[in-house]
Formats: sequence, C-alpha cells, structure tokens
Amino acid sequence: MSLPAISFEFFPPRTIEASFRLRDAVQALAPLNPDFVSVTYGAGGTTRELTREAVVALQATSGLKVAAHLTCVDASRAETLEIADWFAAAGVRDLVALRGDPPAGSTSFTPHPDGFDNSCELIAALADRGWDSIRVGGYPDKHPEAADLKADVEWLKRKIDAGATEVLTQFFFEAETFLRFRDACDAAGIDVPIIPGILPIENWSGTQRFSARCGARIPDWLTDAFAKAERDDRHDLLAISVCTELCSDLMEEGVENLHFYTLNKPHLTREVCIALGITPRDGLRNVA
Ligand code: FAD
Repeated sequence: MSLPAISFEFFPPRTIEASFRLRDAVQALAPLNPDFVSVTYGAGGTTRELTREAVVALQATSGLKVAAHLTCVDASRAETLEIADWFAAAGVRDLVALRGDPPAGSTSFTPHPDGFDNSCELIAALADRGWDSIRVGGYPDKHPEAADLKADVEWLKRKIDAGATEVLTQFFFEAETFLRFRDACDAAGIDVPIIPGILPIENWSGTQRFSARCGARIPDWLTDAFAKAERDDRHDLLAISVCTELCSDLMEEGVENLHFYTLNKPHLTREVCIALGITPRDGLRNVA
C-alpha cells in the first residue's frame, strides 16, 4: 500500500497568542511534506481580513502551497470576486469555494442582495479566472439541508459541472460512510478526486457539538470508547488509534489523499501521519 498524499486545514488566528500557535502548528506539520495547506474563512465571513492575513503570511513564509477558503456569505458578487483576485495577486493558485454557513444567530443561508445565490454560482464565476484548483465541500453523511444523500450528491454534481476540480469532504467517523458516498458520486458521474476530510478528535465534547451542527453521524461504539478513555485518562491514545485505523481502512480501499482538520493543533495529526508511515523530513521546511 503506497503512502497517501496529505494536506492540512488551519483556521486564521484572532489573537497574537493564536498566531504563535498557528506558526508552531505549521512548523510541526510542514516536515510531513503536505501537498497543500488550507486556511478557512470564518462562518458568516467573520474572519475575512484574518483569513487574508493568515493566507498571505503562510504563502510568504512557509514554502507550502496554500489554498484559501472563500465563501459568499454576507458579501456582494463584486466583493467576493475582489477577495479572490486579491488572493491571486498574493500568489495563491488554489481556492476552496463554499457557500458558507450563516452567521451566528441565523439558521439558514440568505444570499446578500447583490451576492451569489449559492455555491454553484460562485464556482461558475471563479471557473474561468485561471485558478489551478477550485475545491468544494462534499458531505459523506449528507449535508443537514439535503433531503437525502442522493439529492446531496446531485447538487455536488452541479458544483463539479460549474467548474469545481476536486471535492474535500466533511469529516466522518467510519470508512464505510465515505465509501458509500464515493460510490454514490461515482454513480452520479462525478469524476474528480474526492478527498476524505479527517478529524483527529482533539476534544470529545467539542466534537460531539460540532458533529451535531454539521450532520456528521457519531457511531455508538465511538461514544462508548471515548466515555471509557476519558474516565481512564487515555483520550489522546484513543483519538490517535481510531483516526489511524480510519485512515488505514480508507487507504486499503484505494484512497490516495487525506485532508486533516488540524484545528491548529499539530500533535494528533502528526502522530496519526507517523503511524501511517509518513516520515517527517526535519529541516525540509523553514517556517519563519
Ligand atoms: P452547498 O454544497 O452549496 O450547499 C450545502 C447543501 O445544501 C448541499 O450539499 C445541498 O444538499 C443543499 N443545497 C444548497 N443549495 C441547494 C440548491 N439550490 N438546490 C438543492 N440543494 C441545495 N464554512 C465556512 O464558513 N468557512 C469555511 O472556510 C469552510 N470550510 C469548509 C471546508 C470544507 C472541506 C467543508 C466540507 C465545509 C466547510 N465549511 C466552511 C462549511 C460550509 O460552509 C457549510 O457546510 C455550508 O453549510 C455549506 O457550504 P457548501 O459550499 O458546501 O454548500
């Protein structure tokens, strides 16, 4: 079994201390030689400036390929495309294009009066502007707004037809969930790479809350296992082993890329990568 290509997602820091934590996280993970790293765009567009700053800093100092997330929440078409142009001017060649979640307090997406109505419109507007890649979100457990997995995958096909080049998935907890989704995408004629999103579980209660929001199904065995691990103070050990096993199962099924949600904390992601046989090459990258 060959080693997978890996990539890492970070979020933009809001404080000086958080900036140092991000720098440390990148420094710890860069020697694993990721294909790319990505920087999220805060829900409701709340971190627009911070995302710009983090993307530019990483682009300028890390030596890594940086993909910028972009959403169309609370911005006109012109503003959204201006941000994309600004990323391009900073040397960024890859985008993760999303509709985005509504700001805190709203439960559904309401387009800006002059904004993109949905992700397909955003993707189509970006598609002819020369990006190396336009990655989009996919939902192995189905997005909470989708009637069922079939409808969700049909919508994903529309995003691909609009010009998306790759799918990065929401996290999930069992390989079977991803394989079923991959089969559904295949049946729908989606022929771009589908890269599983992998969440090393940093914090079990936070993971439960976030999973409930984004529709990721938590199997009972995982709930039981974390209850026991927390009781016995073995949280990280369990987190590393379940995540490594998930990745191994995916690799056995032919998955060649893994996208890690790092939450700007490198320890678990690094341990999982090493357990998979991805060897750090110290000194390869020099993050300023
Ligand atoms: P879409 O795929 O366009 O819509 C979500 C779902 O709603 C679809 O799967 C589909 O089932 C349904 N749907 C929507 N419109 C229609 C329609 N017209 N007809 C039929 N069905 C429709 N959020 C952020 O705020 N910032 C980020 O940086 C960020 N990064 C992310 C990265 C990844 C890899 C993923 C998977 C998600 C990320 N998110 C981020 C979360 C994302 O914004 C939310 O999941 C959001 O609710 C959906 O965005 P989307 O682009 O996937 O939407």
